[in-house]
Amino acid sequence: MFQGKRVMVCTAHPDDEIFCSGTIVNLVNGGNEVMLVVGTEGEKGSHDPGTTPEGIAALRRTELETAAARLGIVSVVRLQYKDGELQYATDLKEVLFRMVRTHRPDVILTFDPWKRYELHSDHRTIGFAMIEAAHLGANCWYYHEQMNEPDTACHKTRELYLFNCDEPNYYVDISGVWEQKLTAASAHSSQFGYQQLTEQDVRRLTNRLNPNDQITIEPMHKMWQSDLYL
Ligand SMILES: [Zn+2]
Repeated sequence: MFQGKRVMVCTAHPDDEIFCSGTIVNLVNGGNEVMLVVGTEGEKGSHDPGTTPEGIAALRRTELETAAARLGIVSVVRLQYKDGELQYATDLKEVLFRMVRTHRPDVILTFDPWKRYELHSDHRTIGFAMIEAAHLGANCWYYHEQMNEPDTACHKTRELYLFNCDEPNYYVDISGVWEQKLTAASAHSSQFGYQQLTEQDVRRLTNRLNPNDQITIEPMHKMWQSDLYL
């Protein structure tokens, strides 16, 4: 896919990275550096009345660290916005522009915000904000004051891929790293079957181009350069 590139994966909650975790492992194995940006702490991610948001956030932080290590991600940046309320984070776009201009990724992976019937507003919100940062981070008139900050420069992100997407046009073959995807998912024991993935979890994590073949894929919508830089 790529080699020697800086890759930024941007998600809303701890465990969202599992949508593209096979792709992440492929990228890491191919000699690319992958960082993960997570919008919230996922503190509403439980129906158990015996827990607290603080307790859930602490648990999910540990789960995320374990999953990221299993995937070979070099750094995790937690933006710590409130779970379920990303759409009200008025500085989210500014923060993501700064992330792009500081870390200068070659490749960005994020949610498809146009996915029909996407129920979670955090998924839509982070997708829209990250796409704008990838698209417009090169225009110095956006958040112009960032130009005065140290280690910040206008930056053009060359490649953008949307996961959990509505209209896939790019399929990553993850058959060779399938076990690693499952192992990373099992780190999120508060979200998937406790300690061990259930059959339903594995079904949820399995995508095949054709039901009869054995090639496991992660579908993406690739935004072509011509889409981004008209
Ligand atoms: Zn999520």
